Amino acid sequence: MWPQKVKENVLVACGRHCCVCHMFCGRNIELHHILMESKGGDSNFDNCIPLCFNCHAEAGHYNSEHPKGTKYSSKELRKHRDRWYQAVKELEFLESKWKESQNKQIEEVYEDQVVTLKGFVWREAFPGPPNYDSFETDRIETYWMLVLPEPISLFTNSFETEETIKIENIKKLQLCVDSEFYKSNREIVRTNVELTGKLFMSISGHHHGDANFDIRALHA
Ligand SMILES: [Zn+2]
Repeated sequence: MWPQKVKENVLVACGRHCCVCHMFCGRNIELHHILMESKGGDSNFDNCIPLCFNCHAEAGHYNSEHPKGTKYSSKELRKHRDRWYQAVKELEFLESKWKESQNKQIEEVYEDQVVTLKGFVWREAFPGPPNYDSFETDRIETYWMLVLPEPISLFTNSFETEETIKIENIKKLQLCVDSEFYKSNREIVRTNVELTGKLFMSISGHHHGDANFDIRALHA
C-alpha cells in the first residue's frame, strides 16, 4: 500500500499521465513499485512510477522463465519517470507564463489599431443639448465609459503637422456603440468586461473620455 502523501505527490508530479506512454489516465492510473516489494522495494516517492494499465502490465509481467520482448529495467523506468516529471513541470511553467501574458494589459496603442482591453463599464451623464453646459438647463446625455485598471498611452497624429504625438495617462475610454448595443448589453454596466475595438482621439463636444473606443466585439 502506498502512503496517501506519496500517492498525492506522485499523481501531481505526473499530472495523472502514464510515465512511459504519456497517455492521460485519469482514474485509470496505477502506481508501480520499480523495485518489487517482495524484493525489499519501499513504498516511497523514489521507488514509485505511475503507469497506465497497459504499461503496468508490461512492466510487471515479464517472465524470465519464458523471455519475450524486452524487459523494462528499474533503471530505465526511473529515467522514464524523471523525464516525464520534468516535462510536466516545464509544461506547467509554460502554461503559467502564457496565462500571465494573456492577463497583461496592452500599454501602448496606436490610433486605429485593433486592440482588446479589459476594464470596468461605468455609465456617465453629461449636460447635452442645447448648450452642453449645465445639468439644470440642458438635456442629459449618458455614455458608457470603459475605466481601465492601468492607464495606457495612445499614439496619434497631429491635425496640423502629421507629427506623431504620444498621449499618456489614458484611463477612461468613451465607448462608441450604436443604440442596438446599448439595448442588448445593459447588463455590462458596472461590471468588468473585455472589449475589442479601435481607439481614436476626441474630436467633438460629445466626447468626454480621455479617448474614444469604437467597439467591434464584446467578450463576456
Ligand atoms: Zn502507458
